[in-house]
Amino acid sequence: MSSHIYNRPVADASLIGCPHCDLLQRLPELAPGASARCPRCNKELWRRREDSLNRTLALTVGAALLYVVANSVPMLGLTIVGREASTTVIGGAEHLWSNGQQLVAVLVLLTAVIAPALQIGMMLAIVLGAHREHPPRWVGTLLRHHPTTRTWSMIEVMMLGVLVALVKIADYATVIPGVALFVLWVLVFLLAGMQASFDSREVWERIQWAEAGARREVAPGRMAEGLS
Ligand SMILES: [Zn+2]
Repeated sequence: MSSHIYNRPVADASLIGCPHCDLLQRLPELAPGASARCPRCNKELWRRREDSLNRTLALTVGAALLYVVANSVPMLGLTIVGREASTTVIGGAEHLWSNGQQLVAVLVLLTAVIAPALQIGMMLAIVLGAHREHPPRWVGTLLRHHPTTRTWSMIEVMMLGVLVALVKIADYATVIPGVALFVLWVLVFLLAGMQASFDSREVWERIQWAEAGARREVAPGRMAEGLS
């Protein structure tokens, strides 16, 4: 028997507590593109996106395709006195590892390969799950953890680092920009668009108070007993 205790949700879904100053307030009906702000601290509480789910799905599928391309073709090539070498993003991390820069290699792999893959994959699952008539519970779990993947996904930081290194190395070697370099720049903007078009509140609203909620109503006085 588990010992989970769940709070009782308020039936009125328009009630919201400001995450900055805790003021309880009622959200108005918003037209697409409009936003609601807290009257006390002016924090934006919700911006209603236009056709959020479909647009996010389109941008996420695009990002997934670009991600696959960006990690399978060379990012950079160098020619020094007749010798030529090229590498992919993962290849670059491998080079760092074998040259004694293990910590940097792990960071590159985490922030430029693993986190973006999780960010795109989880978003795809969330949007596809939310498209169903009754979004399953795992959509909520993914939605709760998705901001973490966004925090660690830093392709743009890696790209800035690559640019700085390119400028510095240009005097000594001929740099051949690979296809992945351009694809990664497009991916940076696609990921930003994906986040901007996503409306997490809309998805939360679509998630029913799932099975646990139904069972809770059966036994309202026994909140502490096994619910899972
Ligand atoms: Zn506030």
